Amino acid sequence: MGKVLIIGCGGVARVAIFKCCQNSEVFDEICIASRTKSKCDAVKAWLDGGKTKITTAQIDANDVDALIALINKEKPDVVLNLALPYQDLSIMEACLATKTDYVDTANYEPEDTAKYEYKWQWAYRERFEKAGITALLGSGFDPGVTGVFSAYALKHHFDEINYIDILDCNAGDHGYPFATNFNPEINIREVTANGSYWENGEWIETEPLEIERTYNFPEIGERKMYLLHHEEIESLALNIPGIKRIRFFMTFSESYLNHLRCLQNVGMTSIKPINYEGMEIVPLQFLKAVLPDPATLGPRTKGKTNIGCIFRGKKDGKEKTYYLYNVCDHEKCYQETGSQAVAYTTGVPAMIGTMMLMTGKWKKPGVHNIEEFDPDPFMEELNKWGLPWKESFNPELVD
Ligand code: NDP
Repeated sequence: MGKVLIIGCGGVARVAIFKCCQNSEVFDEICIASRTKSKCDAVKAWLDGGKTKITTAQIDANDVDALIALINKEKPDVVLNLALPYQDLSIMEACLATKTDYVDTANYEPEDTAKYEYKWQWAYRERFEKAGITALLGSGFDPGVTGVFSAYALKHHFDEINYIDILDCNAGDHGYPFATNFNPEINIREVTANGSYWENGEWIETEPLEIERTYNFPEIGERKMYLLHHEEIESLALNIPGIKRIRFFMTFSESYLNHLRCLQNVGMTSIKPINYEGMEIVPLQFLKAVLPDPATLGPRTKGKTNIGCIFRGKKDGKEKTYYLYNVCDHEKCYQETGSQAVAYTTGVPAMIGTMMLMTGKWKKPGVHNIEEFDPDPFMEELNKWGLPWKESFNPELVD
């Protein structure tokens, strides 16, 4: 049916490419382009031979002209951006110049400030609309499936949603005292930033990891979780009418938090460049270089993830509660794709979001967050492609 250009070839991209190849009726051609071409070639060597044709290319995704030249040469129907959040705007610029649809999984972040905001990408709304192309923002799990869950809950179960708690539990154990499950730089920037949540029309800011709760996760059990700022709160606050409060919680092990505190106390998580023996280095980037590459955690990780949303609101004048979640098993994900569940739960929705644009099921010129589209076809595909969802009408609530 069509061709996708996938930019970036890390943990998430590997799963997305694997799933695109499985879905060869939709993806008959993939070009994988990234900074290090040898990684793209290795993925091609692994997956070549099926119905989907794979080609590879080298690209610096910060270079808009190079991106335009690549898109003009490859002529994809959709560009799927699985590089880092720093590259979102340059890739969007190139999509505009070439009139190509765009999908990503994380919102733009300037490299020198850990600030997650949609304002930079939303500023492209009019230009994308005029060009007649669609940008689908945040098609991973969170953001991504959490937005689809919210749209689905609103469409089928509520007249009005007043409270959303997004709970992200990773109960996987990789046996290392400290490692991150996706890009360490992005992960640590997210966790060490101030927390925040949306309440009664405004942001309430907290100290990093200040708010802690314990939750009994289905199929996992009790885990401690911490309130974080998370990007989907910003768009859901605008797109879910009647909303009073949205919070996001993520679980961390004691070992992870102890190491993180220590690294933070000695300055290793700083993103301010320092001069080391005449060389400028960013401590967090140096730390990333000595930590295990998340792509190597696959064979070591055991346990499950449970990510979902608890909704509270009104239906036919009555109070109602509804919990939608997915449980994923790290070892099963590894057996299937060679990657652990964190890459899996992001890569699968990235493929599905791209598929929605490619098949024309979702087509809305402009720049849109995922909850702005009809959730039903996406929910159907989640069940087909390895992320079945479960629902509960009487869940434990978070106080
Ligand atoms: P990785 O670090 O494993 O992969 C990033 C890839 O991007 C690497 O292949 C890297 O190249 C490439 N890259 C980086 N800079 C450039 C550049 N300037 N030009 C071209 N390629 C570049 O990250 P992950 O796979 O873990 O994460 C990918 C994205 O997914 C991130 O944006 C992350 O925030 C997002 N994410 C979203 C989640 C969600 O649920 N929504 C959850 C988890 C992640 P090289 O190989 O040379 O380093």
